[in-house]
Amino acid sequence: MSAVPEIMLNNGQAIPQFGFGVFLVEPGETVAAVAAALEAGYRHIDTAEGYGNEKEVGDAIRKSGLDRADVFVTSKLANGAHRPDDARRAFDASLQALGFDYLDLFLIHWPLPTRYDGDFVSTWRTLQEFYRDGRARSIGVSNFQAHHLRRLHTETEVMPAVNQIELHPYLTQDDLRRFCAEHQIAVEGWSPLGRGRVLADPEIVSIASRVGKTPAQVVLRWHIERGDIVFPKSVTPARIRENFAIFDFELSGEDVEAISALNRNERFGPDPDKFDMV
Ligand code: NAD
Repeated sequence: MSAVPEIMLNNGQAIPQFGFGVFLVEPGETVAAVAAALEAGYRHIDTAEGYGNEKEVGDAIRKSGLDRADVFVTSKLANGAHRPDDARRAFDASLQALGFDYLDLFLIHWPLPTRYDGDFVSTWRTLQEFYRDGRARSIGVSNFQAHHLRRLHTETEVMPAVNQIELHPYLTQDDLRRFCAEHQIAVEGWSPLGRGRVLADPEIVSIASRVGKTPAQVVLRWHIERGDIVFPKSVTPARIRENFAIFDFELSGEDVEAISALNRNERFGPDPDKFDMV
């Protein structure tokens, strides 16, 4: 099986294009799930303070015997901690929970339009402190729309390395992906399988049977061909391995187009312009 490609971020750091997400993985299941992913070859783990399993992610990486430097780890700022002093404390707490002295990538989890007087710009400036002191090798945002990114562009000096957004065949986000490409922001797609809900789509099932792969593998390969970074979640070892086995085939341009044409702007998660839960 060939290696996972790397994407070069706008600050020169490399990120594995494919990883493992642990949203909704119970703390009690996390060590086993991350261990299964590392065993299968994943070297990129996506967690968040809000997932409640940072400690277990750190434990699993330590138990694996891999060097810390060999695993790319992302975490995200707690939604209740946008104000600068709170963000500083929250970042320290994430590092402490993980048991690491740095993160590969740290993100503002949500822009929270109705909280903090809409001021995600000072939060972004606070993340730049973690970047400058080396404790966050890269920093970025999640669930930012183009209008949020435009504010960072005009009001600050550093653009995010990544924007992590909901992305799957029913929500292809092509306008936002284009905006990110124009501003050298790498796109990470969350819920890359649409939480499993796109897998019974007849077009995807038909392509899968023609190329001899599973619907999940076809959808994940579609993301890879489009150049986005993804990290599907599963707690089932066979599925964890299945999802990783996508580097020994390619989709034709027509198949990529046919899957992109399934877009219906359908979100399975919250709308970033409305979501304000802390
Ligand atoms: P996903 O699209 O990865 O779907 C996961 C679900 O798909 C699993 O629970 C399982 O039911 C099913 N599945 C997985 N592999 C399968 C297979 N091979 N065959 C059939 N079904 C399969 O959804 P997700 O967990 O929401 O997203 C992935 C990751 O993205 C998360 O774990 C998290 O790291 C990140 N995320 C980030 C945000 C954010 O706001 N930044 C929000 C949601 C998720």
